[in-house]
Amino acid sequence: MRRARIFASEATSPRPGEDGARSGSRSLRALAAALLWLGFAASAAAAEGLHSESLRIDPGERMLVVAPHPDDETLGAGGLIQRVLARGGRVRVVALTAGDGYREALARLVPGRPPGPSDFLHYGSKRIDELEAALEVLGDGRIRLEVLGFPDGGLQALLVDRSGRSLPLRSATTATESPPYPDAADRTLSYRGEDLRRALSRILADERPTLVVIPDPADRHPDHSAGASFALASLRDPEVERALRAHPPRVATYLIHWPGWPTPAAGTAGAAPFALPADLPARGLAIRTLWLDASELERKRDALARHDTQQRAMGPFLALFERRGEVFRLLDTTRIDPPRTARHAPPRTK
Ligand SMILES: [Zn+2]
Repeated sequence: MRRARIFASEATSPRPGEDGARSGSRSLRALAAALLWLGFAASAAAAEGLHSESLRIDPGERMLVVAPHPDDETLGAGGLIQRVLARGGRVRVVALTAGDGYREALARLVPGRPPGPSDFLHYGSKRIDELEAALEVLGDGRIRLEVLGFPDGGLQALLVDRSGRSLPLRSATTATESPPYPDAADRTLSYRGEDLRRALSRILADERPTLVVIPDPADRHPDHSAGASFALASLRDPEVERALRAHPPRVATYLIHWPGWPTPAAGTAGAAPFALPADLPARGLAIRTLWLDASELERKRDALARHDTQQRAMGPFLALFERRGEVFRLLDTTRIDPPRTARHAPPRTK
């Protein structure tokens, strides 16, 4: 989660002379299909009502949580992570970025001069440490973490403009073109959309999750919506589909960024239900809630506290997610339409 409005155009610098690669057309089609889903999502306006059904968690669940930035895993699924582990399941978290592009927070940390690449790298390292500490709270060492270290604020650009291109993006904050962190899962990757999609595909095929938890595709933060598209495109990767054919995973989404949401809890802190925004496009998706008990809520709060940089930058916003309910929408990935239907798709409305 990151409230800074660093959008793709700022976060990545242009690379003159790039030309599109021809080899990634299938992957590009998958990405386009995922984007098409977003178009449908944006065009289908309907109110979300209150939810009542509980999220089902099977014994021995294998859960993969996709987090665009460190802290999204706890905000969106801090209770779910605990519950899956408590039921004998296993949890793997993949952080797409290290959250190293938060210009506003850096400007406050290094007053009097513009932050430079080494400041952003230091900030990213700190956020990785915080993520590890939060997962330690949630899982007592049982959660497997992979930080891919793609450019914070640049995922939308990787998805829309640069997928399959021959040269990688350069992060406008860290000035790197590949994951710079020693703890990154694979430092041979470079900042190309195809590399991110393949990295996610490898993790999916390796983990064979029964439950995949990703950002809501309608989330208003471009890293979140793009992260959802990359995850959905990876789920439609033919190799991943083969690996998961015997037991296709359920896909649940979590929302973090929506205008005016979450609203502050009324009454006893943490006790209020947690409804999705009334104006979130419904698209017929099933809504499921996980109700946290007092101890799970306390541990979620404790894990969120480990994200110290974010607490300092926007503690009150993080606190809005300390609720008894975690709300998810279930996606049917087979409803991501093949590219040919793009011609018949309604236009995007926003
Ligand atoms: Zn985020």
